[in-house]
Amino acid sequence: MSWLAEMVALVAPPGCPACRRALARAEERLCATCTRALPWLAPGCPRCALPRHRGTDCPAAAASFSRAWAPLAYQGVARRLVAALKFRAALPVADLMAAQMAANLPAALRGLDVALVPVPPQPARRRSRGFDPAGVLTAALARRLTLPVAPCLVREDRAERQVGASVRTRRAENRILVRVRASPPPRVVLVDDVHTTGATLDACARALVADGVLVVAALSYARTL
Ligand SMILES: [Zn+2]
Ligand SMILES: [Zn+2]
Repeated sequence: MSWLAEMVALVAPPGCPACRRALARAEERLCATCTRALPWLAPGCPRCALPRHRGTDCPAAAASFSRAWAPLAYQGVARRLVAALKFRAALPVADLMAAQMAANLPAALRGLDVALVPVPPQPARRRSRGFDPAGVLTAALARRLTLPVAPCLVREDRAERQVGASVRTRRAENRILVRVRASPPPRVVLVDDVHTTGATLDACARALVADGVLVVAALSYARTL
């Protein structure tokens, strides 16, 4: 993998990325205990990726993406893998997560003629982490699905807040601002590590739709329940 992954491997001996216990076999990527404890989601609402909600209460009813999917609940082992990717820069974890996504992809999302678009990071986060977890996950998923990646979005939220600004101004400043920075492909699938409220995915989809793009779906590794 990349120079960063090699550096991480040098300082951290290989262990289970979720529980850090030693792995039984060198080729094992997640220990047997954590593999058994993965919080798989049953097929749920195709619009918001929640396993269930009451009738018309779909939080994605007005979203700009037409469907959403995540294989796992954002808890337990899945949450620890996201943390390993995000905060310990354990890049091989991205490929493990991509493998779990690719192996469980719903039939409706297979064999599509789309490009994968990573949800862009907030510039301040990108700077402090030195890498972009959603971008790394998207690249790994694209390799597994043999799909192109189109990193055509950029976050433009204003991070700094003015001292003494009113609550209303602060709220306005906290809005998720996404801009299409490069000519996007006609059909895309958005990719993120965690689908929480869906507000970021919706902001990304809205920017793309305004640019004439058909946003086929929003794929995430894990869904907050
Ligand atoms: Zn483990
Ligand atoms: Zn729904």
